[in-house]
Amino acid sequence: QAKSSGKAQYAIFQPGMHDYVLGQLQLANDLVGALDRDEFYLEYQPIIALNTSHILGIEALIRWQHPQRGQVSPIQFIAIAEETGLIIAIGNWVLQQACHHLRQILLAYPSLDRLFISVNLSAKQLAQLNFVSWVTEVLRANHLSPSQLQFEITENLFIHDASRAAQTLEQLRQLGVGISLDDFGTGYSSLNHLYQMSIQTLKIDRSFIGDIESLGEKWDVVQAIVALARIFQLQVIAEGVETPGQRQQLCGLSCVAAQGYLLSRPLPFQTLLPWLDNYGNP
Ligand code: C2E
Ligand code: MG
Ligand code: MG
Ligand code: MG
Repeated sequence: QAKSSGKAQYAIFQPGMHDYVLGQLQLANDLVGALDRDEFYLEYQPIIALNTSHILGIEALIRWQHPQRGQVSPIQFIAIAEETGLIIAIGNWVLQQACHHLRQILLAYPSLDRLFISVNLSAKQLAQLNFVSWVTEVLRANHLSPSQLQFEITENLFIHDASRAAQTLEQLRQLGVGISLDDFGTGYSSLNHLYQMSIQTLKIDRSFIGDIESLGEKWDVVQAIVALARIFQLQVIAEGVETPGQRQQLCGLSCVAAQGYLLSRPLPFQTLLPWLDNYGNP
């Protein structure tokens, strides 16, 4: 019957789909022991203030060096880690490792004491019991102040149990930890989030930045987001700045910070230290 309609209604039985599901299962299986096997490491991408060229912070980005597959992108495995619950152990490792590295940076360059580390946080991590006291403990163990940490969250976090998430975010804010809304403009957006949630920074998704030089709709959206941020007194970071032209154009908007390949690619820790040394702060 279904066949007579001419459409592949039972798409789940298509051979390509079968391979895909098997691949995901295999990846999930490999992910289980990856932490214990030490297959993860972090890279750090600088966040720069465009008006002063000062370095404000560094975003920690997880990398998985798989013994057979080589590098597996977080775009491929973070979703699986979230579905399987493995994200809790992995994400907690990320926070500890990032704080440990920031501590090393500050020991080497005490003048960078206002540098923050930005860590991506998933909904399940935030929902952990005692998450806030655990974060406090990690900061204390690394001699960091809460203002030296930011969490990046996405709007999807508010889809389930928004009030619980909001409560924990508020506790983090009261502690003094910064909260950024990542990939802004792509998610389950609601202006409510901007004034009900404890958010200090909007990160404009790179899909808007890539095309600003043509001065089309995307540029209008970027300007609108910056105007919105001013209303709600939020900081703005433009993601994915790749060309001098994009940088130039964003410079025209006051108070924008930027992140992207033009300024620096994400760097492994061993490369970050000499990069910081060489960059200095103007
Ligand atoms: P994100 O948090 O939005 O991170 C920005 C992504 O854009 C990173 O991809 C970064 O390498 C890439 N990027 C930075 N500048 C440029 C640029 O100029 N051009 C282009 N084309 N790309 C640029 P990456 O490292 O592959 O991470 C992808 C996503 O995976 C992240 O997006 C984040 O959502 C997630 N992720 C990464 N690390 C973690 C983590 O430790 N925990 C969690 N929960 N998610 C993570
Ligand atoms: Mg991020
Ligand atoms: Mg982002
Ligand atoms: Mg993104």
